[in-house]
Amino acid sequence: EQTESNLSVTVVGASGDLAKKKIFPALFALFYEDCLPRNFVIFGYARTKMTDEELRETISRTLTCRIDKRENCGDKMEEFLQRCFYHSGQYNSEENFAELDSKLKHKEDGKLSNRLFYLSIPPNIFVDSVRCASGKASSKTGWTRVIVEKPFGRDSESSAELTRSLKKYLAEDQIFRIDHYLGKELVENLSVLRFSNLVFEPLWSRNYIRNVQFIFSEDFGTEGRGGYFDNYGIIRDIMQNHLLQILALFAMETPVSLDAEDIRNEKVKVLKSMRRLKLEDVVIGQYKGGKSYLGYTEDPTVPNDSLTPTFAAAALFIDNARWDGVPFLMKAGKALNTRRAEIRVQFRHVPGNLYKKNFGMDMDKATNELVLRVQPDEAIYLKINNKVPGLGMRLDRSDLNLLYSMRYPKEIPDAYERLLLDAIEGERRLFIRSDELDAAWSIFTPLLKELETKKIAPELYPYGSRGPVGAHYLAAKYNVRWGDVTGEE
Ligand code: NAP
Repeated sequence: EQTESNLSVTVVGASGDLAKKKIFPALFALFYEDCLPRNFVIFGYARTKMTDEELRETISRTLTCRIDKRENCGDKMEEFLQRCFYHSGQYNSEENFAELDSKLKHKEDGKLSNRLFYLSIPPNIFVDSVRCASGKASSKTGWTRVIVEKPFGRDSESSAELTRSLKKYLAEDQIFRIDHYLGKELVENLSVLRFSNLVFEPLWSRNYIRNVQFIFSEDFGTEGRGGYFDNYGIIRDIMQNHLLQILALFAMETPVSLDAEDIRNEKVKVLKSMRRLKLEDVVIGQYKGGKSYLGYTEDPTVPNDSLTPTFAAAALFIDNARWDGVPFLMKAGKALNTRRAEIRVQFRHVPGNLYKKNFGMDMDKATNELVLRVQPDEAIYLKINNKVPGLGMRLDRSDLNLLYSMRYPKEIPDAYERLLLDAIEGERRLFIRSDELDAAWSIFTPLLKELETKKIAPELYPYGSRGPVGAHYLAAKYNVRWGDVTGEE
């Protein structure tokens, strides 16, 4: 035990929402699953004055046990909470971080110690915190790593500036840029599905795929928390990162291996092959209020004249041999009729289809579609055409359906658990490398600037609707339709 190393995790911004809702619960789940080293401590750091006891009290309210693992849960929680401590300090104070360092040293008790900092704070204090943490609270005996939450800038220039500033204090391999969509079970499974089943990969190209859709919708608005959002908008908040990351994984060539660098090299290649997004390939929207809901600009935390999009649809293109001409459609919005994230792959028509006419189905609409429902209620299903049993010859649409809750009744770990564990283990596969980030911003930055300089007004849509009709016209322009609006499941 003497030689076993220590791990300390410092949650910077521990008084905040993300820390309470996601980070502490994920750390507890890892502890419960025996994934943390035997010697670990967790520190919360923020300006709010709190005692260790008060921090424990706050986080104990958000810790949960998995449905299938209720045994000893109370004891485990207590054990976990006893390893949690708090230090109050400023984000730009080297002195306060030096105090944290001495508390950490005391807990580490002279053993080899690795330190992980999780920056769960607004972006304007990222660099100060990194400067102080790295200068005054780095591990002297083991590694020091920093997890950074989005936003990574708001365009190419500010993102590059953030990277430059972080790299003054940290090496690239110490920076873990988190995109929690990459930690989601179905997103991880995307590569498994594609590369370990013979039936998919041969079809994975412009020859068989008509278009691919990445859809994210929320059924609530900003609801009094619009301050952060209004400065970014849905394109920066969801598309440029989460949806684009999934697209890159979807479209990349086969990596040389499952090594982080091999995978990220392939993702960068896809991003670099993408066309810069043009205004004519984008529709933006903003939700308006109704009888019982406040519209976006009626939210007290949002300026009355805000043009920030709460909805966007876009058609993107990858100019390489595999994907030439295939529209990759993205759609993301708040205050829509449903809450879900999914990937929809629409295949081409069957050439010379024997069953084109008179079999009870419009075969023009009956192309195969593969759907990966990322959330909620994870599922993979493939729409196929099938003969209705009976003496006659009638066709209908059916699903080959893999519903996770049926096949894998065990609770699926939260994305933050996987990502925290990966950061602890030094696995970088699911974190964003700086060249990936640059390439991602290059696709969206000209469009974002044009929207802002031309003050393009978003199309208004009712709270709880399917979003602006403009999105349908955008898809129609490329001769496709959104998979989720046909009324089919
Ligand atoms: P938050 O609650 O607004 O902020 C976290 C903490 O930062 C606060 O408790 C506050 O602690 C400190 N802080 C320092 N300067 C601040 C300022 N000017 N305004 C507000 N707080 C300030 O943020 P969060 O929702 O936890 O999110 C943390 C980070 O993750 C952010 O960068 C956010 O963009 C990102 N993120 C959040 C979510 C989410 O679901 N909430 C999802 C993805 C990404 P003290 O006052 O005690 O110092």
